[in-house]
Amino acid sequence: MNTLSYNQDSLAVVGMQWGDEGKGKVVDLLASEFDAIVRYNGGANAGHSVVVNGKRFALHLVPSGVLREGCDSIIANGVVVDPEQLLREIDGLTAEGVDCSRVLVSSRAHVVMPYHKAEDAARERALADSLGSKAVGTTGRGIGPAYAEKVQRASAVRIGDLLIPDLLRERVRAALAFKRPMLERWAPDATYALDEESLIEIALGWGDKLKNRVIDSTIQLHDHLEQGRKLLFEGANATLLDVDHGTYPFVTSSSASALGIAPGSGVPASVVGRIIGIAKAYQTRVGAGPMPTELTDATGDQIRERGREFGTTTGRPRRIGWLDLVALRYSARINGVTEIALTLLDVLSGFDELKVCTAYEIGGERTIDFDPAAASLDAVRPVYESLPGFDEEITGARSFGDLPSEARAYIDRVQSFVGVPISIVGVGPDREQTILVEHEAGVGSIG
Ligand code: GDP
Repeated sequence: MNTLSYNQDSLAVVGMQWGDEGKGKVVDLLASEFDAIVRYNGGANAGHSVVVNGKRFALHLVPSGVLREGCDSIIANGVVVDPEQLLREIDGLTAEGVDCSRVLVSSRAHVVMPYHKAEDAARERALADSLGSKAVGTTGRGIGPAYAEKVQRASAVRIGDLLIPDLLRERVRAALAFKRPMLERWAPDATYALDEESLIEIALGWGDKLKNRVIDSTIQLHDHLEQGRKLLFEGANATLLDVDHGTYPFVTSSSASALGIAPGSGVPASVVGRIIGIAKAYQTRVGAGPMPTELTDATGDQIRERGREFGTTTGRPRRIGWLDLVALRYSARINGVTEIALTLLDVLSGFDELKVCTAYEIGGERTIDFDPAAASLDAVRPVYESLPGFDEEITGARSFGDLPSEARAYIDRVQSFVGVPISIVGVGPDREQTILVEHEAGVGSIG
């Protein structure tokens, strides 16, 4: 009998809060140990910047394995792909001398079509009147409508369909039948997205440029595993934005926690032996939605300035808050996090006291349970524990012992509350500004 036996050496890196936790740096730190970096969720609304030859690139779809020789960068079936964006990223990297020959995309990944982007804008417009500030607010990249199309089925276009003209035409025609009246009403300027002939021409052009990269990623990933190779799953967005387990409806449209790995890649969760949850040492959030520990005072402003918490493309200030341990514990549970990378700890120096939220009060009762429904979270009052702050800049610390005792106590409190060891501490944006924490006797006993 042929028994299937994979090792469990694969790893996942997932954001534990509302995004921008510094996943890019941790993936970059670890990538050299892996044979393939795999994206399994989201679309071009995610990503991080990498520096190549002194030039900064925003990678939205290309997995960061592209910078490692011999490493596959696989966009698996759970991702929605905007081919124009993908080709632009590949062209930019290639022009800088990066070998993109191992950037591969699943034939079953769904395509973000021009009418999905138009639909994003149209929905915002249509819902603004009825929902006002409760509107979810999208990045306008067509990701929600593309995922909706995937679930609607008959009118969806997958990457593999770009190589089959008759099938492509059938799909596009079906999509337009339904979208035309809606877009003519709500996005009258979007005529470019409704012309069947030009859509087909554009889509076949994408297919032609991508055809050598289109693979059955499920087979490829299983072949890797069978040959004892290790995969690194790169989560996009973050757990509290997960469509099922996040602060619904203020979430993204994909499974942005580690739970998305299996459906988004065809690889069973059991092979992922290590799940690193990335958590900022404080809380940030972009756009609308509940945030129990939000700071709207000078302390919040100070953290924002120190952490340069402004959107990379929009420059929009991010919302800031104290670290929410109730949410972090929830996130650790949902993902099955085996260790935490606590990032941006350097931002917290210079405060007399540091607060962490250790319970929620709701209706006079205290709880450490996290109900992610936005309406429930809106009703909670955070209960804080105060910890002593530290004045020293810690950007030069390279070992746990280099940190001031107050910073060590902060780390200790986080891991003892969450029940997961902190194995990596970020003290600055550079790769070297990282502390690898040795754990000898289990959680809560470092130092
Ligand atoms: P992602 O969306 O989770 O991938 O987050 P990014 O990789 O875009 O990181 C957010 C920002 O934080 C980037 O500008 C990083 O350079 C920066 N960053 C990451 N880790 C640290 C850290 O430990 N300290 C500081 N000060 N900045 C960091």
